[in-house]
Amino acid sequence: MKDSQLLHEARRVLVHAYAPYSGYRVAAALLAGDGKVYTGVNVENASYGLTLCAERAALVAAVSAGQRRFSTLGVVSEKKPDPVPCGACRQALAEFAPDCRVLVSAAGGEETLYRLADLLPRPFSYHAETNHE
Ligand code: ZN
Repeated sequence: MKDSQLLHEARRVLVHAYAPYSGYRVAAALLAGDGKVYTGVNVENASYGLTLCAERAALVAAVSAGQRRFSTLGVVSEKKPDPVPCGACRQALAEFAPDCRVLVSAAGGEETLYRLADLLPRPFSYHAETNHE
């Protein structure tokens, strides 16, 4: 799948983001080992700390469908700043795909490609050799 298609899938669900408090809508699309794309949006809550990022929403959807291998995460937002994944999402993704590509697209359409290993060079890992079983 092309990167542009992955970002298209993220933009397609951006309308579903629930961000009444920040007004900052984010959507993510995760390309899994089965070739399918799993999407997620940010879901805010009146109790701010319960807010779930789009990236982790996509990851949870994919893992819930039985996927544990991922090659590329696409993230889009409808406005600035660029939706570079937060630390929690970097750690969550590193659990399954430490070498994942992270493609970020800002409101203006510019795209920036990162490597998760560069965004999070020293993720916490516990018995990493068994994490994918
Ligand atoms: Zn996050």
